[in-house]
Amino acid sequence: MNTERLMRIALEMAGLDEIPGDSAIHRPGDEIERILIGIDLKAPELVIASAQGYDCAISHHPVGGSSTLRFHEVLERHVDQMVGAGVPRDVAANTMRATIEERRVLSSMTNYDHDPSVAALLDIPYLNIHTPLDEIGRGRMAEAAAGMGEDATVTELVDRFYETFGEFRNAATEIEVRVGKPENRLGRVVVSHGAGTNGGYPVAKAYFDHGIDTVIYIHCRLADARKLAEEFGEAKNLIVTGHIASDSVGINPYVDRLRAEGLDVTTFSGIVPAESNP
Ligand SMILES: [Zn+2]
Repeated sequence: MNTERLMRIALEMAGLDEIPGDSAIHRPGDEIERILIGIDLKAPELVIASAQGYDCAISHHPVGGSSTLRFHEVLERHVDQMVGAGVPRDVAANTMRATIEERRVLSSMTNYDHDPSVAALLDIPYLNIHTPLDEIGRGRMAEAAAGMGEDATVTELVDRFYETFGEFRNAATEIEVRVGKPENRLGRVVVSHGAGTNGGYPVAKAYFDHGIDTVIYIHCRLADARKLAEEFGEAKNLIVTGHIASDSVGINPYVDRLRAEGLDVTTFSGIVPAESNP
């Protein structure tokens, strides 16, 4: 196995043609047999991976290099997701414009080389795979939600998520209804995920303004949820599934695939198992 193919497998599983801006091979390598993968795997964890004899380290979240400097590019995916759900393209683009520019500038201020330079010193193959794995998770959650029908209730969808995904049952966090109420009708549902980070108040508002009744985020700041609740009352629903549990919903199928390829894969740093008794 090599780092190129490790990335390619994730892209294929996500249905993506190109490596998204928030994912990158930071140090290429081949003859890989033992992999350490975590949600956050940076300089200290690279030292652990090297000391424990791993051939390769994979982080989910961006860890510098182009995955930081080009992170803002994947925020554009919110625009496409909104358009796909019926939001006019000019509204969707305007909703994200300031956020994308702000993120580009913030990223350019960071020491983007820190963690990749540690991988170089340790001479350990290192990559991070963010949007492809989130896209796998989004697809799985959207499929589970699509089976519900518009007349189902918010509670029924939350129950369905717990039944379908062991990651939600096993996580230390719970799925929360932050806007609306559990007995509300679901109506039209969107899983807003796999676009860098949550769209906060502006993206959820754009969905609510254009015919979506229930937005699913994996995380959302309380201030954004409060603003939505003030504006939309209990007429619309925002379900927050939990960051680490939801990241795991996308990561586990990839880990299973690598193991099926004969690789020895160790998970850590937050990856919640899908099985009840791992
Ligand atoms: Zn994440």
